[in-house]
Amino acid sequence: MTTTSILVTGGAGFIGSHYVRTLLGPRNDAAVRITVLDKLTYAGNLANLDAVHGNERFAFVRGDICDAGLVDELVAAHDQVVHFAAESHVDRSVLGAHEFVQTNVVGTQTLLDAALRHAPKTFVHISTDEVYGSIDSGSSSETDPLRPSSPYAATKAASDLLALAYHHTHGLDVRVTRCANNYGSHQFPEKVIPRFVTTLLEGGRMPLYGDGGNVRNWLHVADHVRAVELVRTVGRPGQVYNVGGGTELSNRALTGMLLDALGADWDAVAFVPDRKGHDRRYSVDHRKISVELGYRPRRDFASGLAETVAWYRNNRAWWEPLKDRSPAA
Ligand code: NAD
Repeated sequence: MTTTSILVTGGAGFIGSHYVRTLLGPRNDAAVRITVLDKLTYAGNLANLDAVHGNERFAFVRGDICDAGLVDELVAAHDQVVHFAAESHVDRSVLGAHEFVQTNVVGTQTLLDAALRHAPKTFVHISTDEVYGSIDSGSSSETDPLRPSSPYAATKAASDLLALAYHHTHGLDVRVTRCANNYGSHQFPEKVIPRFVTTLLEGGRMPLYGDGGNVRNWLHVADHVRAVELVRTVGRPGQVYNVGGGTELSNRALTGMLLDALGADWDAVAFVPDRKGHDRRYSVDHRKISVELGYRPRRDFASGLAETVAWYRNNRAWWEPLKDRSPAA
């Protein structure tokens, strides 16, 4: 059996670490070697990779995807790139966009240039449903125009289009995924679900933006990991694949479920002024990846959420030190 070597950027973050732990995890049956390249920003956490440290098919390099020399060396030494690294929090991009442009745009271009120099390389670029912008009804399909609203989404759209341009112009084997809101264990406690859960566990009040009417589609991170693997292994070069999770909820409805799960009531919620430019609703149509690659979300939201809440309840030592790194801490 041939072994594929994969450079995983951002593998110490939430989704990237799930991806790495899954591929090298207990079954350890994927024919892959993985090197994680991660800068370990506030969002990167080596503890997320504890389960694979010591695995002979795993290596970790601390570094910046904008470091052209390092990136060139690493891309040359691997068969494929799965690119998760990004500045990922919308609220932070509202406070300042510089790091977002650097990492999300310049960093992606640095990786693409290296992939081109050392082609052929399959390059899976992880993008987001936020590139389509807000949609009042229906769902965005892969051919819809991109209308990003936040600085975060604008930099993701720029990198997503850049990746596709390298396919169109140079024939690079680029595959793009645009996924919905992920949830699960190991998510940095600035994002809505872990932020709410950890705040309640600490006896605080959950801050709910505006009227709570913003709607998101929820995707369990394990379903997302399976989708990325399908795209990497059997996806087509130059294609975009939306990845939805199948559960659409307003933030108010989500808050109600979290209150129930934690045995709290609405007194534990603080309605706070809405985020600037807050998109009302995202929804992606994932029929393409379902029909072409056989993807379907398997995780039921209620049980996935209960399991996620239980993980935060049982892993205070993981998240308590991170609360100080959150902007709203
Ligand atoms: P995250 O913030 O948890 O992790 C990002 C990782 O990238 C961290 O480990 C960080 O240290 C690393 N990183 C940041 N800048 C870097 C740089 N310059 N060089 C090297 N490493 C760097 O993010 P996440 O939630 O795991 O998201 C992963 C990807 O998925 C991102 O591209 C994000 O845009 C996309 N995405 C996430 C969601 C979601 O719900 N979390 C939804 C849609 C798309």
